Amino acid sequence: MTRLPARRSVLAAALGVSWQQRLLHHHGVPAAWRRRRCSGAGSKAEDSSSPVTPMLKHLMFKIKATGPITVAEYMREALTNPVKGYYMHHDMLGEGGDFVTSPEISQIFGELIGIWYVSEWMAAGKPKTLQLVELGPGRGTLTDDILRVFNQLGSLLNKCDISIHLVEVSPKLSEIQALTLTGEKIQSELDVTSPVYMKGISKAGIPIFWYRELQDVPQGTSFYLAHEFFDALPIHKFQRTEQGWREVLIDIDPKAPDKLRFVLAPSATPATEYFIQGKEARDHVEVCPDAGILIQKLACRIQEDGGAALIADYGHNGNKTDTFRSFRSHELHDVLIAPGTADLTADVDFSYLQTMTQGRVATLGPLKQQEFLKNMGIDVRLQVLLQNSSDTAMHKHLLQGYDMLMNPKKMGDRFNFFALLPHQRLAHSDQKANLQHSKSLSTSVAGFGELVWK
Ligand code: SAH
Repeated sequence: MTRLPARRSVLAAALGVSWQQRLLHHHGVPAAWRRRRCSGAGSKAEDSSSPVTPMLKHLMFKIKATGPITVAEYMREALTNPVKGYYMHHDMLGEGGDFVTSPEISQIFGELIGIWYVSEWMAAGKPKTLQLVELGPGRGTLTDDILRVFNQLGSLLNKCDISIHLVEVSPKLSEIQALTLTGEKIQSELDVTSPVYMKGISKAGIPIFWYRELQDVPQGTSFYLAHEFFDALPIHKFQRTEQGWREVLIDIDPKAPDKLRFVLAPSATPATEYFIQGKEARDHVEVCPDAGILIQKLACRIQEDGGAALIADYGHNGNKTDTFRSFRSHELHDVLIAPGTADLTADVDFSYLQTMTQGRVATLGPLKQQEFLKNMGIDVRLQVLLQNSSDTAMHKHLLQGYDMLMNPKKMGDRFNFFALLPHQRLAHSDQKANLQHSKSLSTSVAGFGELVWK
């Protein structure tokens, strides 16, 4: 039997061993993980056929009426147009869909995130209310796993008034989230002016509210979570030319009237002036203003009301160039083919997010997923589950899930964790704010340093 380090065995005890049975039935280990390969804009289609989807028709009418559109407008329409947007009316997650995410691979992932929130809630002085706010909850799996941790740690949290707030634009996914979290189908609210469009009660009796936008979520001490959310927000693309910076736009291909192509704006636009920094060294830049606005809102809320935000996604620190890509059935797909039927995504620029906090909050990370999960005690959790099962299929499942999450060639190095915290949270640690290279630094914040369970 492996002997566990003292602090970590406390974590193992806190989590208990009883969930191992559930693991077997829970998430299958997928054949491929999300966005497993990267290629540039206009990458070659694996399938050369180019169906004229309703979304393509809609975009073509728009371009014919008003001229070429920005990549941001293309992405926003293709993903979240209320009628034909990719996210709106089908379930794209999992083996049968287009991509799979960490919470869908292993429930250990959500368990450790749940521990992170309890740890931060304790560090915040155990406030009497705890709003858990998830942006883009997918199938609701991550929140469900977190709620099981809260339930397991009921003796710690029993005096705390917990509520769940989900920010989701997709009617289809919110229906699935309701089923996952409450076990029931929930009717939408009849009052269309209400910011809450659905309400339910979790299996353990915790109230859950659904909103379309963060600004609709009530103020108050809140703990925010965004897992693979920021990468779905619309980006603008810019190219350096001999004449200066030009925005990349999308137009109809004159040689193939049912196809789209990338073009460069003929002259500089206000966007080029506004979004490109004077000292920019790259030749191609992607900027996501929606992400900047969202981060500002989160930073203001945390500054005013306390709490924390944990953002996990693939991304870079302001050094990558062309990361816009599309996925369908776990394969890379041409970004301009059959819009509305495939996922569109771009790497998150964490340095931009950090700049957009405008110093209102402290930031930690980005830290690689494998390091974050290791600090959170994933090895202990795995050992406990392995030791408590004699089932070989279960062992295989646990080990495959662990490998997928932790292997640097799979999700371990590609995904990053980034946190926003009130300045006073770090006031007593040796670094006060904006830690860019937390790998080499120690901090009292779980995940970014080793978990200390008090
Ligand atoms: N967090 C989940 C799902 C990631 S997929 C997981 O890791 O498994 C992206 C999620 O964000 C989906 O739920 C999608 O419907 C939602 N989403 C995308 N754009 C959104 C927007 N602009 N506002 C709110 N939700 C959005």
